[in-house]
Amino acid sequence: MKIELKSTLSCPKCGHKKEEIMPTDACQFFYECTNCKKVIRPLEGDCCVYCSYGSVACPSIQEKNDCCK
Ligand SMILES: [Zn+2]
Repeated sequence: MKIELKSTLSCPKCGHKKEEIMPTDACQFFYECTNCKKVIRPLEGDCCVYCSYGSVACPSIQEKNDCCK
């Protein structure tokens, strides 16, 4: 099963897009936008910023594991 590790994060504050490599061993809860320097957090119910703002769901979701529990 192929897991996509590249995700394009879209900053909810300024709309800046940046391609990032997602960590496979942990969920990334905080992400500092490289453009506006705002620290963004996941939306309620999401485990990481990639699930909320990325183009691809995080590896844990792709594996259908329950992460962060
Ligand atoms: Zn931003």
